[in-house]
Amino acid sequence: MREFDLIVVGGGSGGLAAAQRAAEYGAKVALLEWDRLGGTCVNRGCVPKKIMWHAAELARQLSDSREYGFRLSLEGHDWPDLARRRGRYIRRLNAIYAKNLKRRGVERIAGHAAFSGLRAVAVNGSEYRARRILIATGGEPVVPEIPGADLGGTSDDFFQLGSCPRRAAVVGAGYIAVELAGILRALGSEVTLHLRRKSVLRRFDEILQKACLEGLSQSGVRIVTDFVPAAVDRDSDGLRMASSSGARTGPFDTLLWAVGRRPLVRGLNLEAAGVNCDSRGAIEVDAWQETTAAGVFALGDVTGHHELTPVAIAAGRRWADRQFGGMAKRRMDYSNIPTVVFAHPPLGSVGLGEEEARAAHGDSVRCYRCEFVPLYYGIAAHKSKARMKLVTVGEEERVVGCHLAGPGADEMLQGFAVAVRMGARKADLDDTIAIHPTAAEELVTMRG
Ligand code: FAD
Ligand code: NDP
Repeated sequence: MREFDLIVVGGGSGGLAAAQRAAEYGAKVALLEWDRLGGTCVNRGCVPKKIMWHAAELARQLSDSREYGFRLSLEGHDWPDLARRRGRYIRRLNAIYAKNLKRRGVERIAGHAAFSGLRAVAVNGSEYRARRILIATGGEPVVPEIPGADLGGTSDDFFQLGSCPRRAAVVGAGYIAVELAGILRALGSEVTLHLRRKSVLRRFDEILQKACLEGLSQSGVRIVTDFVPAAVDRDSDGLRMASSSGARTGPFDTLLWAVGRRPLVRGLNLEAAGVNCDSRGAIEVDAWQETTAAGVFALGDVTGHHELTPVAIAAGRRWADRQFGGMAKRRMDYSNIPTVVFAHPPLGSVGLGEEEARAAHGDSVRCYRCEFVPLYYGIAAHKSKARMKLVTVGEEERVVGCHLAGPGADEMLQGFAVAVRMGARKADLDDTIAIHPTAAEELVTMRG
């Protein structure tokens, strides 16, 4: 049996961040991981997704290029080559993570970890103990429990595709569904997106829902609404899906479920440590990331809220600052977290949507909106609109929400998130000199 100051279970965004920061403070740290380092984000999430998104954006720009005077002849898109390059890049990142752990003296132990006692974890038959144990085991995709569901795959399988499917079905209305539908369509698939209600991204402000639906339709994604999947089967033409009301879609070559993710606690034997989960299966933590077992902490996707990489990283670093760096009050603030959906166009959001703000602040909410065709499309036959909304509260018009849809929204949001976090008022934005000609300038020139 070996002793450490800290054992981290899970070598993804949150676990790596906490382990490295704790080691920088001099802690003796073990990191337990059964897979490649980097977790969901690096191996089957943000990073490979963003590479595919860039490919999709490039496909769109290539189709606009004629209007910018280019005369090109294309030989098509080489999906296997892109997948190979993507894989090489990710393996490079895996190696960099391993090197960084080594440089900081973090011991990496490969294998499946399970609790064997209150502050004890077993891997491959060996037991390890520590005064503090941090669980950062992330999440996994959900597959509906309906007949034939296993004929479909998940986002994990998307990254295993050896070629672009000719006919793809995507089920879901969240981040992953709209991102994968957009990528597949841009790279050549006929895509049918199945929504169980009428809209996508229901937790986002209505302008982003509208922009997303418009972008998907304009790109040629077929959208089927009110479709609650009930069964999947395969015939000689391909996969077909039936809804609970008897509607049928298909045939498809590939079916991807994007109906949410659940915390990954399988096989962790949490009972041995007295760690409780809530009704959704997420590990219960307090504001300091401590679980129901003293000395056992959890953060990131396994805690079930704000499933985003920078959230897991920030929670991990702040936790280590408090536990090993003497910063007694340091903890994660889960308010005003900016987020981007890598759709086409990209969508960015921080703070409250209009509906949420009105529910919380009533009549003191005032919104500013704009809708325009970005200059990029000025000379193009095909036009795509950008949309923006600022949500303000009170006489001083403090900005409590900023919502952007349009080219560049993904890069634009970060700076405005700083302003929202600092408590900017609408007047502060108005007093900022615009940068011309950009789309971002609309955010500092909006009139009521
Ligand atoms: P993870 O990164 O999932 O790490 C958990 C690690 O624990 C894994 O490596 C796993 O193998 C390991 N593990 C689990 N159980 C055990 C065990 N018992 N023993 C040993 N090891 C174990 N977020 C963004 O911010 N931006 C994006 O653009 C974005 N895109 C995404 C796209 C997709 C398709 C997906 C699926 C997710 C995306 N996310 C994105 C979300 C982001 O990937 C997660 O929020 C983030 O990875 C969570 O980090 P984590 O440390 O909590 O968990
Ligand atoms: P989300 O929680 O974003 O969306 C899940 C969607 O599934 C919901 O829209 C819901 O629809 C729909 N749904 C649930 N059950 C069913 C069902 N039985 N049939 C049909 N539809 C169903 O989950 P994702 O899987 O898209 O992503 C998981 C998390 O990963 C995200 O919440 C996000 O935090 C993170 N992520 C972040 C990204 C980014 O930062 N760009 C990209 C990808 C993932 P309804 O609205 O109708 O209830």
